Amino acid sequence: MATAIITGSARGIGAAIALRLAKDGYDIALNDISEAMFENNDIMDKITALGVKCEKYIADVSKHEACEAMVKQIKADFGSIDVLVNNAGITRDGLLARMSEDNYDLVIAVNQKSVFNMTKFAGAVMMKQRSGKIINLSSVAGLYGNAGQMNYSASKAAIIGMTKTTAKELGSRGITCNAVAPGFIQTPMTDALSDEAKQAILGMIAMKRYGQVDEIAGVVSFLASKDASYVTGQVIEISGGLSM
Ligand code: NAP
Repeated sequence: MATAIITGSARGIGAAIALRLAKDGYDIALNDISEAMFENNDIMDKITALGVKCEKYIADVSKHEACEAMVKQIKADFGSIDVLVNNAGITRDGLLARMSEDNYDLVIAVNQKSVFNMTKFAGAVMMKQRSGKIINLSSVAGLYGNAGQMNYSASKAAIIGMTKTTAKELGSRGITCNAVAPGFIQTPMTDALSDEAKQAILGMIAMKRYGQVDEIAGVVSFLASKDASYVTGQVIEISGGLSM
């Protein structure tokens, strides 16, 4: 059985991706930063009910050594690592003049360095296997920038460069690496926006609605599938036509 690791997967887009990959037949290694995130979410029960193996690993993916230990444990528990989805991400928004150095550094560490950490260690396993699929979560903020998100847009733009570099370095070993760039997806993060902000955002979207987490999971499922075996180094925007 093939194994997929999804970082930051106790809830939100990561949980939807984990559930979709479980439906596709993968054994699932879930990750999140705290046990509490899993206590408040039923993702493990939903995946286990599908009859695939599912384990959870508590680790802060911004920490290099924690990622090394987690990947080693997952390899020991599952035997192979076939798909890595670098999904964990945070925001600490604020206009540039008021953004603290701590909030800049934290977002870069969690969103960007985590991709280096996990790709290095899981990629080493995939190189030995001579196969693997890596899918990174970028964002429209990384493609176009977004006022109030200097830290977040920097991290998400960096992920695009890291995706292309990974594709070039690991391609000859049968490993693909692609990114998805979601637009505005209906999550607690977007629910919290004011009605005025929501209307302004909807005005920019060709499809005049927010995306759903399953619509991100579906594209990730495609990129992890055999149908995408010759697709690498690409960024797929999933935004309902935010920019054209
Ligand atoms: P979410 O609901 O906040 O889920 C992210 C999960 O990652 C949370 O459970 C979070 O735990 C966890 N996490 C945070 N820091 C971590 C760390 N250091 N190590 C391990 N896990 C950690 O976010 P989401 O909306 O599903 O977003 C998922 C990804 O999609 C992110 O990379 C995000 O940037 C990207 N994205 C989202 C949207 C959108 O509209 N939602 C749009 C574009 C891109 P805590 O809650 O405890 O921090």
